Amino acid sequence: MHIAFIGTGNMGRPMLANLLKAGHSATAYDLVPAALEAAVALGAARAGSLAEAAAAGDIVITILPSSGNVEAAYLGAGGIAERVGRGRLCIDMSTIDPGTSQRVAARLAEKGVRFIDAPVSGGVGGATAGTLAIMVGGAVGDVEEARPILAAMGTNIIHVGAVGAGEVAKLCNNLIAGVAFVAVSEAFRIGEAFGVDPKVLTGVISKSSGATWVMEKNHPVPGVDPNSAANRDYAPGFRTDLMAQDLGLAVSAARDKRVPAAVAAAAQQIYRMASSHGLGRKDCASVYRFLAPSPDEAPV
Ligand code: NAD
Repeated sequence: MHIAFIGTGNMGRPMLANLLKAGHSATAYDLVPAALEAAVALGAARAGSLAEAAAAGDIVITILPSSGNVEAAYLGAGGIAERVGRGRLCIDMSTIDPGTSQRVAARLAEKGVRFIDAPVSGGVGGATAGTLAIMVGGAVGDVEEARPILAAMGTNIIHVGAVGAGEVAKLCNNLIAGVAFVAVSEAFRIGEAFGVDPKVLTGVISKSSGATWVMEKNHPVPGVDPNSAANRDYAPGFRTDLMAQDLGLAVSAARDKRVPAAVAAAAQQIYRMASSHGLGRKDCASVYRFLAPSPDEAPV
């Protein structure tokens, strides 16, 4: 397969590397020259524009930061929709709002172009190792056609439902993980304030009803798990700003469907405040650092 690969940032670059390693060829495009250079260094051909990349591929893959970027890349002037061949399949792997995926899919369908959403979980580490979890929304035939390509980038490829359903699954997952980082941080701040050793507390909770992936895989408290971001000054990982964005997408999806989402909304604001206090580019586990107790003399 010759792949048009668009968006060669932190995630796109290692994903492209795995596609090339699996024997595919690619034409890459990124707005940022250094990101495009890095893709060319991996062995991809260079496209001069979105449309040029789209025209070159048997299949198009995009992994871009936000809903606005995806909409502009597909539907904007000089975008993918203008040059992608009739009958081609486009796979968007960005984390965006499901309504945008559905809107882009509908506009492409008018031109006889197919679209699936396939957001990922597993971070830069999973992208590099080729072990991403990939949640896919789209027609069965399109998903099966994409599966061998996706298998070069991930190990768990799950067809969730129609277009947009992959994004829904991703937002639901990140809602839970985002709230859990805050909950674990609050709980451990309380434990520590009472003088309880965080390692002992971890031992208790991991055998109790509060056990969570967050504590097991990326413990927010320094000194508990040598492999967690907390032990490298919260170098990311998954940035606080991206977690705030994903919780924002979950909250707006909840609002669209008239679902109350109070805890997700509170967690979103906490990450946004952490970002305002300089932690936006740190790992999202740094929310523990943000949730420090107030000074003894402060009235509460
Ligand atoms: P990034 O900012 O490192 O890379 C995105 C790239 O897209 C940038 O190089 C940017 O220049 C490029 N871009 C933006 N608009 C473009 C356009 N119109 N045409 C061409 N290129 C364009 O971001 P990332 O960390 O790679 O994340 C990408 C997506 O993956 C996001 O939706 C994010 O939520 C999701 N994601 C990230 C992680 C992670 O750990 N970083 C994990 C899971 C999912």
